[in-house]
Amino acid sequence: MTALVTGGSRGIGRAIAERLARDGATVAFTYATNRPAADAVVARIHAEGGQAVALQAELGTHNDAEQLWAAFDAALPGAHVDVLVNNAGISCYADISALTEEDFDRVFAVNVRAPFFIVQHGLARIPDGGRIINISSGAARLALPGAIAYGSTKAALDTFTLNLAAQLGPRGITVNSLAPGITDTDMNAGWLHRDSEAESGAAALAALGRVGAPADIADIVAFLASDDARWMTGRVVDATGGAGL
Ligand code: NAP
Repeated sequence: MTALVTGGSRGIGRAIAERLARDGATVAFTYATNRPAADAVVARIHAEGGQAVALQAELGTHNDAEQLWAAFDAALPGAHVDVLVNNAGISCYADISALTEEDFDRVFAVNVRAPFFIVQHGLARIPDGGRIINISSGAARLALPGAIAYGSTKAALDTFTLNLAAQLGPRGITVNSLAPGITDTDMNAGWLHRDSEAESGAAALAALGRVGAPADIADIVAFLASDDARWMTGRVVDATGGAGL
């Protein structure tokens, strides 16, 4: 089994890459700029007896998907992709009064346009019975006016999931979104550990009473990637620990 995980050098994507490798997949994962972090993930997977390769791919630029697949083909000639995880994403903290067109274009280019065209250019490489997993966010269904464009990107991704699932169902390919809540990664490093109130406030948003860990998300991805999830498609799987119940 071969998996491709975008944004696997840090955070949730790193945990997904490591988990899928432990489950026996040969994992190709991408990073944008942080080569040392990517090398550390490869080394850790190799140390555990797994197979991994890191691909440099800046997403959110024109022709990003074609460049990513060219890098994939160079690293793993002739390989297909049984599991594609569109994980790479960026935040955008601005409410409607502060949002700039540049912010809007950037967050949509990375979070929405890139997954669309990665799938478009990758479809021939995904065999019947394959898996596409799009990492969405609880922000697609919970109002967060201070991150209005970010939440909108994830809602768009969920609609992408829905339509792809309908189109790819006849091939036995399942397509699901997975929506994390607040998860302890670099994306939140600027505020989550600022003081104990920030962290306890974030923990209180989840019914399960804590902030998520990357492995909490990766374990659900592993389920969606497995044969056990063969009868689930076109859905948004909540991974917020019960936020906004
Ligand atoms: P993170 O810790 O900031 O890691 C981001 C990863 O994506 C890194 O591997 C990074 O590569 C890569 N990346 C960033 N910008 C990129 C770009 N323009 N092109 C290509 N790769 C890029 O993020 P995270 O918190 O793990 O988030 C992963 C996904 O989960 C995102 O889609 C995010 O929206 C979603 N999510 C996160 C949370 C949360 O609370 N953390 C909650 C809900 C949903 P480098 O290492 O090279 O920079």
